[in-house]
Amino acid sequence: MATMMAAQYCDGRIDVRPLPRPRPGPGEVLLQVEAAALCATDLKIWQRGHRNIPPGTGAILGHEVAGKVVEAGEGIGRSWLGKRVVVAPNIGCGFCPACQMGRDSYCPDYRAFGVGLPGGLAEFMLVTVPAVARGNLVEVPRDLPASLAVLAEAAGCCYRGWQACSLRPGETCLVLGAGPMGILSIVLARAMGAAQIIAADLLADRRSRAREFGADGELDPTVADFTERVRELTGGHGADVAVVTAPVADAQRQAILAAAIGGRINLFAGLPGAGELDHFPSNLVHYRGLQVIGTTGATAADLRAVVAMMAAGRLEPLRGVATASYPLARTADALEEARQGRGIKILVIP
Ligand SMILES: [Zn+2]
Ligand SMILES: [Zn+2]
Repeated sequence: MATMMAAQYCDGRIDVRPLPRPRPGPGEVLLQVEAAALCATDLKIWQRGHRNIPPGTGAILGHEVAGKVVEAGEGIGRSWLGKRVVVAPNIGCGFCPACQMGRDSYCPDYRAFGVGLPGGLAEFMLVTVPAVARGNLVEVPRDLPASLAVLAEAAGCCYRGWQACSLRPGETCLVLGAGPMGILSIVLARAMGAAQIIAADLLADRRSRAREFGADGELDPTVADFTERVRELTGGHGADVAVVTAPVADAQRQAILAAAIGGRINLFAGLPGAGELDHFPSNLVHYRGLQVIGTTGATAADLRAVVAMMAAGRLEPLRGVATASYPLARTADALEEARQGRGIKILVIP
């Protein structure tokens, strides 16, 4: 039997070991993984497990994946062979209202590569029938480096975040939280035509990194007059669109307080626990005509848009987002570096 090396997660441990190499059945394709990117979801599973991965069961994590089609099952055209792709990881049931709106990540029965289904922290990854059939694979141009393409899923979530807020060219954006998703949001906002981007983060080095990636202004969110400072920086108006990537109730409230008339606020990060915002400033929503929305995940169409922007050279700052790459054999070290949070995105290159 053919084998492959894979980073197998089990009960909080990561062991890199040979596992059977999957063979594509009818309607399936096998990817040779070119790169996988780690994110907070991988860290959460590594540290706390996941309800879809019962104790004692092995799982292959990694839902941000770029690869190349190396085998195709019956019914898949030969033209697929050799194509480079990125994967939209969430696969909906195809039958519920969310799925029929194309929003698989909201499907109550969704499955996901790298969570319940084997993911990209391996030499090969099987793309199963429903994922192929629902269009979860997005083609990547031949000359786009895998280290860039692999960011399409995370960047696609940020693209979705701004899209859902109807970000228009010339508007002012406020990004609360300058972690990986904040940085990606800044790069996307610039490419989507934002005239001014203000980044807020507790940490000074994250604020200066936000500047490097295109933020025009920075603020410490603990300053007492935060809202006034945003207004000062925006000619008295406030932010047209605010995205809260920090999982912090105060940041959510600040986003609403700092919004301009007609402003849109995206609660992009969930809050820990019950996730309730006390003292929700509902009068501001009413009197200023605000819209408070939330987004999570990205669709294949979002990934396609982001890959096209990458290919057109519109997302060049993303080249600096992958701050470290590890070989598959050192996946545990890669997770540890991601946990420490000094870099931005950490890659594993099988
Ligand atoms: Zn992710
Ligand atoms: Zn569904």
